[in-house]
Amino acid sequence: MDLKSKRIYLSPPDLDGRERELILEAYESNWITTLGPQVDAFEREICERTGVPYAAALSSGTAALHLALILLGVKPGDEVLCSTFTFSASANPITYCGAFPVFIDSDAATWNMDPLLLEEELRTCKQRGKLPRALIVVDLYGQCADYDPILKICSEYNVPVIQDAAEALGATYKGKSAGSFGDMGVFSFNGNKIITTSGGGMLVSSKKEVIEQARFLATQARDAAPHYQHSHIGYNYRLSNILAAMGRGQLENLDKKIACRKEINQVYRKSLSGIPGMGFMPIAGYGEPNYWLTCITIDPLQSKSKREDIRLALEKENIESRPLWKPMHLQPVFQSYRVRGGSVTEKLFAEGLCLPSGSGMAADDQQRIINIVRKVCGVS
Ligand SMILES: *Cc1c(COP(=O)(O)O)cnc(C)c1O
Repeated sequence: MDLKSKRIYLSPPDLDGRERELILEAYESNWITTLGPQVDAFEREICERTGVPYAAALSSGTAALHLALILLGVKPGDEVLCSTFTFSASANPITYCGAFPVFIDSDAATWNMDPLLLEEELRTCKQRGKLPRALIVVDLYGQCADYDPILKICSEYNVPVIQDAAEALGATYKGKSAGSFGDMGVFSFNGNKIITTSGGGMLVSSKKEVIEQARFLATQARDAAPHYQHSHIGYNYRLSNILAAMGRGQLENLDKKIACRKEINQVYRKSLSGIPGMGFMPIAGYGEPNYWLTCITIDPLQSKSKREDIRLALEKENIESRPLWKPMHLQPVFQSYRVRGGSVTEKLFAEGLCLPSGSGMAADDQQRIINIVRKVCGVS
């Protein structure tokens, strides 16, 4: 087959386990809606995997973030701090609550939220007499943020923490799993994440009542009555039993998928690191990422080429790559909100690129990508 005709995607679904068997089991059991044994088992297995005692399977990571904010009592007019270097789904749910996001820049050493800037912002908030109702910390591209200082600062100011670990299932921070930090953790099983249910998410917490309340709100907030009675506004946010079956099949192979992505990351590093001006997302010493995406930076002052030259050369060969997240404080929809810092992620956005990193990617496809990048950079 013509190599060019088969597009290489950034992070396509990789169905290589018992997904089909488990989906069929769900189908044949006639548990095909948002309730059933696969949902219960998927929740249990995520708890076992992450060490967080309680979990609610939901229709998306975005839904999980929205419920987390509601459960923390976020109200119209409140402020919620959020990493600026992220996908818009981290910040959108803040506005669903009528609250305002305030963005915090990253630390160049981890690309995740800078704890010093967080502290500065909280100090300023306190001086103004209005503390934020919550903080959303993102674990970027599969690497945990620096939780020790972040949690310490937030407990000093009494600000609850939501961990947006949508991209980081399976990663660790000082030996503990992503998702286990803060008041609640969020995972996504969207099609491009390290495991997928085609679409789905999970809210996890060490507090039983939080997860029970999340399940209640996610199923239209039905009061205990034989008729339909409601004393709260509810949502239709539960995950279907069919999709949970798929998630279980995926989760069984999570370690294998992490190992594949790590290998891909190491091959990129080995093959590209000698190129002048080429940099990689730093791996922080405090934990082990899940290597969701391999991210490079190209310093235009040192390199023969720019980020866009590489992206366009790959695109010409039918290979998908993508600039790093455009920081939220630069997004037209969020431009009017406050940001603390900003220059670190502005530079990363200008110079950074995510390379295809799917756990199902063939070694010769990766070699093709490497050859193109090397050629564009004038090294071969
Ligand atoms: C994917 C993602 C989400 C949203 O998850 P969905 O399941 O797609 O709603 C939230 N935050 C981050 C950082 C993500 O990468």
